[in-house]
Parts: sequence; C-alpha cells; structure tokens
Amino acid sequence: MKTTLLFPPSWHPSQPYLSLPALTGFLRREGVDVTQRDINIEFLEVILNKDNKGDFLERIADRLSKRRLSGEKEDYSKLISALEEIPYVSEKLDSAKAALRGEGFYDSNQYMESLGNIGKWLSLISTAYFPSEVTLVGNNLTNYSVYSSKGIFEAINNEKENIFLDIFKRHFLKSILADEPGLVGISVTSTSQIIPAFTMARLIKEANKDIHITIGGGVFTRLIDNIFRSDVLFSLVDSFIIYEGEHALLSLIHELENKKDFTQVPNLIYKHNGRTALNEPLIVEDIDYLPTPDYDGFPLSLYFTPKLVLPVQTSRGCYYKKCAFCNLHVDQMVFRSRKIDLVMEDISDLSQKYKTKYFFITDEAMPLPTMKKFSDKIIENKIDIKWITGMRFEKKLDSGLIEKASKAGCLKFVFGLESYNQRVLDLMRKGIQRETVDRIIKDCLEKGMAVHVYLITGFPTETREEAFESVDFILNNEALVNSLGFSCQPSLFELEKASPILDLPPSYGITKIMEPKGHDLSLGYFYEVDKGMTAKEAEEVYNQIMDKVYNKVSPFPFNYSMSDGLLYIARSKGDGIAY
Ligand code: SF4
Repeated sequence: MKTTLLFPPSWHPSQPYLSLPALTGFLRREGVDVTQRDINIEFLEVILNKDNKGDFLERIADRLSKRRLSGEKEDYSKLISALEEIPYVSEKLDSAKAALRGEGFYDSNQYMESLGNIGKWLSLISTAYFPSEVTLVGNNLTNYSVYSSKGIFEAINNEKENIFLDIFKRHFLKSILADEPGLVGISVTSTSQIIPAFTMARLIKEANKDIHITIGGGVFTRLIDNIFRSDVLFSLVDSFIIYEGEHALLSLIHELENKKDFTQVPNLIYKHNGRTALNEPLIVEDIDYLPTPDYDGFPLSLYFTPKLVLPVQTSRGCYYKKCAFCNLHVDQMVFRSRKIDLVMEDISDLSQKYKTKYFFITDEAMPLPTMKKFSDKIIENKIDIKWITGMRFEKKLDSGLIEKASKAGCLKFVFGLESYNQRVLDLMRKGIQRETVDRIIKDCLEKGMAVHVYLITGFPTETREEAFESVDFILNNEALVNSLGFSCQPSLFELEKASPILDLPPSYGITKIMEPKGHDLSLGYFYEVDKGMTAKEAEEVYNQIMDKVYNKVSPFPFNYSMSDGLLYIARSKGDGIAY
C-alpha cells in the first residue's frame, strides 16, 4: 500500500519543515512506500506562476460581472485595479523569484524589492477570492474561524472565497490521486494550515472515500478533548495521530494493509463502534532509534533562499519545561537528546546528500552539554557548517562556550527572554536572572554571536510600565540593536490550553476564565485579571511595542526569517563559497 504525506500551506517558504522528512526517513527505513509533498511550497509555485494569471483574471472578471448583476457589496475598486495591475505585476514575478533564489537575495535592495513584488502580486490575486487573503507566509479566510468546526466546514465548501479549494482542485488533486495512496497523512503544525488541510481532505475523500486520511501534528495534539466533542470532523478524516507519529503511522499502515484493527495503533484517535476512541498508553519515540530525516521528494530548489537551509534536531521536547505560559509539554511529553554521534551522522549525511552546509537546529533550547559536545565534534573533525539554534539564558552559558559554538559555525542564538522585569520573569517561572541576561548578551556581542530575543507582552499581572521596561531594555541597548543579525519579536500573551498557569489561576491574578463562544476547537481561553493590564489593555500596549520595535529594528531579513538571517550573517562574515 502506498502512503502519501502532505504538508499544507501556509508556512514560511524559506526552508522545508522537519515533520514529514522525519516521518518519511523512518517509514522508508521500515520498508514503506512513501511519497511526501510540501504542498505549501508547491502551492506558492503555482500561484506565483505568471502563466496562471489568466485563471485569476477570469475569476476577478467573473466576480465583477456577478457583482454588477447582484449589487453585492464587494470591494469594487480593488477588483478593478487587480484587473489592470495583474498583467503588469506578473511580469516581475520571474525576476523576483530568481533574485530570492540567487545572488540577488544578498542585495538587500533586490531582496526587499522581490518580496515587495511577490507581496503585491499575492494581494492582487487574492481579490479573486475576496475578502480572503493569501500572503507569502500565511492566509486569512476572513469570514471563517479556524477554531470552530462550523467555520472550517463553511470555509472548505466556499468555492468563492477559498483559494485552496480552487488551486488544489486544479493543480494538486489529480497528482495526489494518481499515486493511488491507501493512506494520506496531513501534517498540521500551525493554525494557518487548518483550513487548507481540511480542504484537501474534503477533496480527497470526495474523489475516493476508501483512502484513509489521518491528520497529525502539534495543533490537534492540543485539541484531543475537542476532537472528542466535535466528532463532525470524522466526516472529513478517518483519524488523528497525536503526539509523535513515527511508530503510530507505521502501525496504522500495517493495520490498513492487514486486519484493519485500529485498537492497537498507538497515539490514534478514531471512530470505534460508532464512538470516538483514543488508544492508550501514548508512546514516546526513542529518538536514537530514528534515522536521519529524508528530504527526497521535496522540491528543494523551490524554497526562497539561494542556499538550502535544512532543519535538524538534537533533541525533542524541552529540558527546562517549567515556564508558566508554555504548553509544549503537551505534544512533547518527555525531553530526549539524540546521541551526539547520530546528530553528527545526520549533519554529515544531509550535508553531502543535499549539498548544503546551512542548518537550522530546531531544538526548543539546546542543552549546554549538547552544545559543548556538538561544537567539539565539529571543531575536532573540521566540519564546515553554519547553524542557528534555540538556547536558554542559562547561568552556565559562559563566554568560553559561546566562543566554542561560534568557532563551530554557530551564527545565532535564539532566546526566549519574554520579559526583562524580574518580578514578571519570576512569575513566569522562566528561571532567568537579569544579571545573567546582561552578561550573556555582552558575551554574545563580544564573541560575534548574533542574538534573537522573543518577548511576551501582557503576561497576567504585568503592568504597562513593566511591559515597556522589557522592550526598552532591548531597544536602548544600541550595541545589541546594531549588532549583526539581531532580531526581536514581541508576541501578545495568550492563555493557552494546558499551560501551567491553568493549574493555579489566582496566583496569576486571573479571576475568570472563559471558553470562546462557538469555538469548539479553541486552543486557548479568554480571561479576566484583578491585577496588571486587562487583556484589552495588553493588546493596545502590544501594538505600541510592535511599532516601537519596528521603528528601531528593520524587519528584513533577520526578523522575517531565521533562515534568511542565517544566510545573511554567513555572507556578511565572508561565507560565499558555494558547494
Ligand atoms: S518556553 Fe521554552 S524554555 Fe520555557 S518550557 Fe517552553 S520550551 Fe521550555
């Protein structure tokens, strides 16, 4: 039986995502016939193809004529200017794509102009699906909530507004079915993939109801209880694989090929005798048993960077696991490090096979012993790679280790600082002291290590002054802000399902927690507080902080994409030698 794995839009087009290559590597080693497709990047290639402009023009003209007949309120002027501008802007697409995939990428003017032209094009063709909008990194089907099964059903049936329905039908369905898969697995790791994923599921099911469709990925792992409550989703898919998927998928494939007894398939939610069932105990993968990710089948030349940046991991989960707002422990229950020799094999195999030396280590935070061993091995074996990784502000991350990592080709650390106010940091249970932050940032600057800082605005009880204290700490540090590769992303606090805060809401000043009405697939809650900013005030302050950050820190390229940033830093440090 053939298995097809799909990664739906929308995701950043700078690099492939690790989920399917990790699964594919494992399944192929176990003898499974797998096809994997990054539909996200393939989809972009279709909609950014100037030869397809006729289809968009036809749709827009059709909408205009229907609008005239019905008097429907659409954005008339947008439709008219799209008709006028599409032929002109379409002529810029090839050079924009070529620039991003070639030397033009490193010329910041060309880079910006290319992204601008692509953005303009996507905005124009989106009018064919008005009011929905698709961008290079996301989508917004304005009228439908991804947190409601009702919204999802309406969106996936809306021929007029759902661009994915139109493009998938015309460009993808036939080739997916041509492989005659018995199982299609769709990975949903971000909420922007929910509507595209179910749109694809709908089309595949309509074409052949015997194909088993399973949805995997972090989003639905956080929605286990919701799946039980919203079993209407089972009219579109046959099952969900929650937590990690390697052995679960293999077992599902065996059952589909043999007795179809799903009761033994680990981590599976499915319909059993008319009722929704979850097979327990849940399993956690031994990551030393897993092979190197396999990227074969992905169209690697289509990503929008001149050099391929590949994700790899040295660990799964988070070794720290204590932050009060974080629910990573839900889909990564147990922290595990991969043996360093296996990581070195991964790097060496991927580097040779895909002719790249650029790696994004996707660890939530690389443990210090791993950082040391990994860097030592790279230095010892004189391996020429450039990489970026998540890190924590650990006291023991000293200048010696930063220097070692830098010598080993690490160009940037990505830190979750979240706040620079010690009271807030302590309440968040970040386990971070401000002196440590100051010292590590100073050491990174001295050793030429680029720094990314995530901030959270509006953590319960945080005051307006405390929120600004954090951002001002960053923005007033001229040496940091002006350092090569610096980036900073604030985000607005959200009370997410299963976050430790929910164990003791009053400790965080939370007086009331409310389920969003009509959102049967909600990933979080509304809340009220008796201290600090209200959720509404936090949103206002967040918008001011965003303005402040973007006035001082250029979004492109470092705040736009970590992969783009990695390549820019490498080039600035004289790394221009192609494989
Ligand atoms: S926020 Fe980061 S460091 Fe904290 S528990 Fe989550 S993954 Fe770990």
